[in-house]
Amino acid sequence: MVDHIVHLYHDTPSKPAPGEPCNRCGVCCAAETCPAGRLVFRQRTGPCPALVRHDGRYACELAVMPERHIAILPLHLHPLAVRLFRRWISVGTGCDSVVNVVNPQ
Ligand code: SF4
Ligand code: SF4
Repeated sequence: MVDHIVHLYHDTPSKPAPGEPCNRCGVCCAAETCPAGRLVFRQRTGPCPALVRHDGRYACELAVMPERHIAILPLHLHPLAVRLFRRWISVGTGCDSVVNVVNPQ
């Protein structure tokens, strides 16, 4: 087990248990990068550069504006990249993070 300190806004909801609906707490992406993040940013540890705060929750910019992180992405491929990244990071599915949060506040 690896201990890892992450910093998130205090008003962000606590991480749910694995399998429960994702509440965009941001814990997973603050702790480590997913396969998509590792490919794009060449880093395994968090926080992921694509992790952004939006409406009091966290979001993945690769899944909404990939061109902000992939400068060579042609304009006509933006929609396709968004679809692929959303599928790759499993947007809309339950929490798949097994990170154990010791101090959620
Ligand atoms: S997958 Fe889990 S840890 Fe990651 S943002 Fe969603 S709820 Fe939080
Ligand atoms: S889901 Fe997005 S923000 Fe989270 S680690 Fe993957 S690429 Fe980064």
